[in-house]
Amino acid sequence: MSEKFQNFINGEWKYSDSGEFSENRNPANWKEDLIGLFPKSTVKDVKEAVQSAKKAFEKWRLVPAPKRGDVLKVVGDLMTERKNEIAFEMTREMGKVNAETKGDTQEGIDTAYYAASEGRRLFGMNAPSELNNKMNLSFRMPVGVAGIITPWNFPMAIPTWKIFPALVCGNTVVFKPAELTPKTANTLIHIIDTAMKEVLGKDYIPGVVNLVHGSGRVVGEAFLADKDINLISFTGSTEVGKRINEVGGRELKRVSLELGGKNAQIVMPDANMDLALDAVLWGAFGTTGQRCTATSRLILHKDIYDMFVTRLTEKTSKLRLGYGNNENVDVGPCVSEQQRETVEYYVNVGLNEDKAKLCCGGKRAEDGDLAKGWFFKPTIFIEVTPEMRIAKEEIFGPVLSVIKCRDLDDAIKILNNTEYGLSSSIFTNNVNDAFKAVRDIQAGITYINGATIGAEAHMPFGGVKATGNGHREGGWTVYDFYTEWKAVYIDYSGKLQRAQIDNY
Ligand code: NAP
Ligand code: MG
Repeated sequence: MSEKFQNFINGEWKYSDSGEFSENRNPANWKEDLIGLFPKSTVKDVKEAVQSAKKAFEKWRLVPAPKRGDVLKVVGDLMTERKNEIAFEMTREMGKVNAETKGDTQEGIDTAYYAASEGRRLFGMNAPSELNNKMNLSFRMPVGVAGIITPWNFPMAIPTWKIFPALVCGNTVVFKPAELTPKTANTLIHIIDTAMKEVLGKDYIPGVVNLVHGSGRVVGEAFLADKDINLISFTGSTEVGKRINEVGGRELKRVSLELGGKNAQIVMPDANMDLALDAVLWGAFGTTGQRCTATSRLILHKDIYDMFVTRLTEKTSKLRLGYGNNENVDVGPCVSEQQRETVEYYVNVGLNEDKAKLCCGGKRAEDGDLAKGWFFKPTIFIEVTPEMRIAKEEIFGPVLSVIKCRDLDDAIKILNNTEYGLSSSIFTNNVNDAFKAVRDIQAGITYINGATIGAEAHMPFGGVKATGNGHREGGWTVYDFYTEWKAVYIDYSGKLQRAQIDNY
């Protein structure tokens, strides 16, 4: 009998009202490795969680911010202690290799310590008054109940990017993780609650964080409909993001969206080729290509195109596939059967509709134990042109489209020829080209001589165009999303002073 997991509502672990469960399985060993059963929650569960968060907000907002930060300090410590176990279980539930799930967990730890210290800053701003004997101040105030909806590809890092700053700012949280990665979410909430109890002691407040498992269709939609959720932070597909913006907009909810990407790496003829090769391998096939910042297009200068493609194909064909908790594995499976089908669909588009040339992969990997999981061979299409679908649409799998360019201007034009704008990269040793690329590439993130992936927790993270709606996560920037500004005027003149009237 496999373990049945629970929701966390109002400080208690409890089963959903539905009494139903969904299975969480290992994508590298689908039939044999059942991780656990997670609640299929209902609208009623969501309502209960939101009401508990609403009630808890009245107390949590009054806990001094440095003390709220202390909770996050303990969270970081507990995550550090449990890092190996968290990474092992994360690999088991979503497939990326253990070094990467350790990195995912470390990003959560970094975010916790950053948030802990932010509890002692949360700086407001002062400005001089235009009147005598008057003081002008402004403060950051919490917004209220935060609805957090996350995808499966960074099951720890992405929830922490949202939940930790939300909490430090004094908001309370209702969290719906992806149905494919519920176990990491359970561990995270367990850790947060343990830290709350340790730091707050007898002043513990139930309902500050709530976890509701279930599908986007039911639980996610219930977030949108609930009038007591004041803000929604969402990371996921552009399609769902648009729906959240539409419904949330109607209710005047504050909405932060981190959506899709079609990221590209440019390689110029003067670049360090070994470095550029290693970067594209890591960028395109790390996390089995299932990163929002994955390198999905490679834009090669015509003078190095043939050489680079030859060397890249050779290196790619040597990547070792397997269960990510085993030694010597470079690439794990796709996260689900459905995700592998999407990849296969796009390989067919590349071959039959776009008529690009396949130079490696293009098939399921089914040798030996690989047949037990959703493995797909790292795939490269060459002779891709900017108008092809495989050059424009997000695939979210181990598929790279290689495009030839004439010069830097052409490369940047090709790079910008997508509806998305998350990450980007250029390999060059020409300082003028590098600065021009920084100025002209339309993306939220640009790497010079680095892969498109590898964001750091204290830097702004997010994209332009269809990648989002202008907010940023990470670093100091996310604190703008989780707070409202309050302007305060203090008049100590002892008389009625009329701004813009008495002083002019
Ligand atoms: P998704 O289908 O949009 O799902 C994301 C989350 O939204 C899941 O928790 C999902 O629940 C939920 N959801 C689905 N429909 C919903 C609805 N109608 N209302 C409210 N919530 C709903 O995305 P995904 O397939 O999991 O993840 C891949 C996508 O995420 C890619 O497009 C990728 O680029 C993007 N992504 C972006 C970033 C970034 O920072 N820009 C980072 C990572 C991923 P379920 O559990 O039912 O699926
Ligand atoms: Mg989905």
